[in-house]
Amino acid sequence: LNRRLAEFGTTIFAEMSALAVKTGAINLGQGFPDTDGPEEIREAAVRALRDGRGNQYPPGPGIPELRTAVAEHQRRQYGLSYDPDREVLVTAGATEAIAASLLALVEPGDEVIALEPYYDSYAASIALAGGKRVPVTLRPDAAEGRFRLDLDELRDAITPHTRLLLLNTPHNPTGTVLTRAELTEIAKLAVERDLLVVTDEVYEHLVFDDGDGTTHIPLASFPGMRERTVTIGSAGKTFSYTGWKVGWITSTPELVTAVRSAKQFLTYVSSGPFQYAIAEALALPDSYFASFREGMRAKRDLLSEGLTAAGFDVYRPAGTYFITTDIRPLGESDGFAFCRALPERVGVVAIPNAVFYDHREAGAPFVRFAFCKKDEVLAEAVSRLKSL
Ligand code: PMP
Ligand code: GLN
Repeated sequence: LNRRLAEFGTTIFAEMSALAVKTGAINLGQGFPDTDGPEEIREAAVRALRDGRGNQYPPGPGIPELRTAVAEHQRRQYGLSYDPDREVLVTAGATEAIAASLLALVEPGDEVIALEPYYDSYAASIALAGGKRVPVTLRPDAAEGRFRLDLDELRDAITPHTRLLLLNTPHNPTGTVLTRAELTEIAKLAVERDLLVVTDEVYEHLVFDDGDGTTHIPLASFPGMRERTVTIGSAGKTFSYTGWKVGWITSTPELVTAVRSAKQFLTYVSSGPFQYAIAEALALPDSYFASFREGMRAKRDLLSEGLTAAGFDVYRPAGTYFITTDIRPLGESDGFAFCRALPERVGVVAIPNAVFYDHREAGAPFVRFAFCKKDEVLAEAVSRLKSL
C-alpha cells in the first residue's frame, strides 16, 4: 500500500457491519435503510433492464434523461438553474463524485479544509489527490443541543495554500444543518479568499423543521458561489436505494469538465438501468419527499427519546439519519472501546465518531447511531441499550 493510503486501513463501516453479522447484533452503525425505497422506482429499474435501456455503457456524462431530471430538481427545489448538457455529471454515487472532484481540482500540496468530524471518504480522497487536509472542528454546544461551526476557526484555517473547502450539510455524523447565517459567512469567505467549494448535500431531503424554520439551503445559491461550487447529490439517501450508487454533481461547465476528466478514468460510467429509474424518481411529486422526511423525523424522535432514556446525552439532529450521542453520562469516555464491546454487551452496533476526526481526542466520547430502520428494530435496540 502506498504512503498516501497507508493510514486508512479498512473503513469503519465495513468493520462494524461485519461485526454486526458475526454477533447477530442490531446494526445501527452503517447508514443504510432496512426498507427499500418506492416500489414504482424499483419497477422503473426492472422495466429499463427488460427493455434494454442502460444494459450497455451509458453516455459518459450520464443519460440525458437523468441529467435533465437533476437540473429540473435543482430548479424546482432551490430555483437554481443548470444546463443539463454542460453543467450536470452523473457519478457512481456521491463517493465517486467526492473522489473525482478532489482528484480534478486539487494539486499535490494544496490545502483542503474540511469540517471535522468528516465522512470517512473525505480524508482518503484528499490523500489520493495528494492534498493536505486541514480540519476545522465542529464544537458540541450543549446549550443549543447541536454541533456548531466556529467561523473564526474557519477563517483562521485559510492560508495562501488553501485551494478548496469541502463542506457537508446536512452533516454526517453530527446531524448539524448549517444555518443561513453560517452559510452566508462561509460564502463571503470563499469569495474573499477565492476558494473553490465542494459541497456534499446528499442529505438535502432529510432536514427536519422543528418549528424553527430549519431548511436545506444549497451553498451554490449564495452570491458569488454558483461559479465556484461543485454541489454533490445522491439518489441513495433520498430514494432509499443505497446499493444502486447513482450520484451526481452540478456546477459550471468548466468545473464539470474538470471533474469528468477524473471520473472517466475511475469508472467511466455506472448503473445504466438505475439511471433511468432515478430520472423518474427525481420527478416524484413533493408529497414523496415530504412523507419520506416526516417518516424519518418520527424515527429520529423514537430513537432520540430512547437513547435519552437509556442514559446517553443526545444531540438531536436537524438533518441526516444519524444521531450523535455523548457516552460520558454512562460512565464511559472511549467511543472506540465502547463500540467494539457493545455488540457483545447488549447486541447493538454503533459507530465511534472518533474515526471521523484528525483530533481523535475531540471525538473520543461521541458515538453515532443510525435511525433509518424499522420502528420495531429501533424499539428493540433501545430496550437492549437500556440494560447498559
Ligand atoms: N457523503 C456523505 C456525507 C455520506 O454520508 C455518504 C454515505 N452514505 C456518501 C457521501 C456516499 O454516498 P453514496 O452512497 O452515494 O456514494
Ligand atoms: N454513508 C454511510 C454512513 O455514513 C455509509 C456508507 C459506506 O458504507 N461507505 O454510514
